[in-house]
Amino acid sequence: MSAADSGAAPHIAILGAGPAGVAAAYKLGARGFRVSVFERAAGPGGNSSSFPVAGVICDYGSHRFHPVAEPAVLADVKALLGEDLLLRPRHGRIRLGGRWIHFPLKPVDALINLPKPFAASLMLDAVVKRFRKAPEGPATFASVLEAGLGPTIARNFYFPYVRKLWGLAPEELAVTLAERRVSGSSVGRILAKMIRQLPGLRSPTAGRFYYPKKGFGQIITTMAERAAAQGAEFHYGAQVAGIEIEGGRAAAVAVETEAGRERVVADRILSTIPISTLVRLTGDAAPAPVQAAAKALRSRGMILIYLVLKTDRFTEYDAHYFPELSVPISRMSEPKNYSASREPAGRTVLCAELPADPGDRWWQMSDAELGEAYVGWLEAMGLPVTCAVLGTETRRLTHAYPVYDLDFQRHFSVMDDWLSGLEGLMTFGRQGLFAHDNTHHAFAMAYGAADCLDAQGGFDAGKWAGYRREFESHVVED
Ligand SMILES: Cc1cc2nc3c(=O)[nH]c(=O)nc-3n(C[C@H](O)[C@H](O)[C@H](O)COP(=O)(O)OP(=O)(O)OC[C@H]3O[C@@H](n4cnc5c(N)ncnc54)[C@H](O)[C@@H]3O)c2cc1C
Repeated sequence: MSAADSGAAPHIAILGAGPAGVAAAYKLGARGFRVSVFERAAGPGGNSSSFPVAGVICDYGSHRFHPVAEPAVLADVKALLGEDLLLRPRHGRIRLGGRWIHFPLKPVDALINLPKPFAASLMLDAVVKRFRKAPEGPATFASVLEAGLGPTIARNFYFPYVRKLWGLAPEELAVTLAERRVSGSSVGRILAKMIRQLPGLRSPTAGRFYYPKKGFGQIITTMAERAAAQGAEFHYGAQVAGIEIEGGRAAAVAVETEAGRERVVADRILSTIPISTLVRLTGDAAPAPVQAAAKALRSRGMILIYLVLKTDRFTEYDAHYFPELSVPISRMSEPKNYSASREPAGRTVLCAELPADPGDRWWQMSDAELGEAYVGWLEAMGLPVTCAVLGTETRRLTHAYPVYDLDFQRHFSVMDDWLSGLEGLMTFGRQGLFAHDNTHHAFAMAYGAADCLDAQGGFDAGKWAGYRREFESHVVED
């Protein structure tokens, strides 16, 4: 007998307490559902968590809450954080042609600082764009970006950058990445973004981002606290180790904690863990092609290297972007500059994002070795460390970016089709839908999922299909 039949509130099991899982608990708890969240980490936040490194609050790489968030999501985040949510100007730099350019791009700065031959090639690309012939063969990330942006920016910026991020050549990446996941995938879009920065045309949030006083993760911990106050139960250190499928229905979840293994029966399971993990956890219930697709779908990992320096501040910039292949890191952020914090005095942290995969040469290096290499990369980029290095810490993410190779859509669809046919189970979130999405998108997905459940726990499949089409239009903000 389901909870709905007995008149009790439906019991919803949520797998994962990253932004998607927490936002689902927050929405459903508010409506009186019985909610249990299972998260293997010690707290909420997933890849959007914050934590102290030598007393400095740090994130998993550069994290900003983007003002383009859906109005309902933004309104909730503002209400939850109150005065702790700061609206900060973006102040980053990117290295192009050996020069530092403000990032996001600003028209005057770009005109003055871009190397002249580079700027001339850019302009020529824009002029000849309409006469350029479409490349032969199936479209790839490389062909779409080159057609949209021209060879200069595509080859000098995007191509080396994606090689670094995904470890693949641009020709080996799917067109989806360019069309739906790159916010500046055409000259028109980049120019429109730059023009929106001009005084007089600028909206109050153009070139700005929201950031909480206590780190990006404060958004998710505050939402989790509110969900808990509404009655949601959060179980941390709780690894989801199996999903029971019976008669085409997701019947129960096996959860492992320090206390042992427990079988949790729920009216509905909302999963935000990686879709391939979800499939694996169903064991032999998944047909062989679905199991094969789960093995084939790849995520890119990332090592975050936190260099602790004996100085108040290393630079005035929040982030430095390194598209060129001469250094392996893709971005460096200085966490204190995100919240304009002066605390702690006499110490700052520089966080480098090093795309890597478990088992590769970077993954096998010790923290000290990575710290030493990092100092060398900074020197090579013209940013020598002249103060004392107090230490290095690292954090290693196995699921940082979905890898959109040429076969990913086929593998994803095989899993998605099978999972969508199971009763009582939904998958969403960045990992759950294999989407290169921002935190506000993960929130929007959770809000959509919650909206598809009625008070008795019934599920509106047609509405969910509509939301899924909407999610396809998400474009990732850098
Ligand atoms: C380097 C980097 C920079 C980023 N910058 C930004 C930014 O500036 N702005 C922005 O909006 N977004 C940014 N993002 C994206 C943001 O981090 C994600 O969109 C967001 O965290 C996705 O939330 P999620 O809940 O869908 O997934 P996740 O955050 O990945 O959460 C999934 C959760 O599931 C848990 N889990 C997995 N397996 C199990 C299991 N078997 N049992 C129990 N729990 C499990 C994990 O521990 C995790 O807590 C960035 C991401 C990266 C990697």
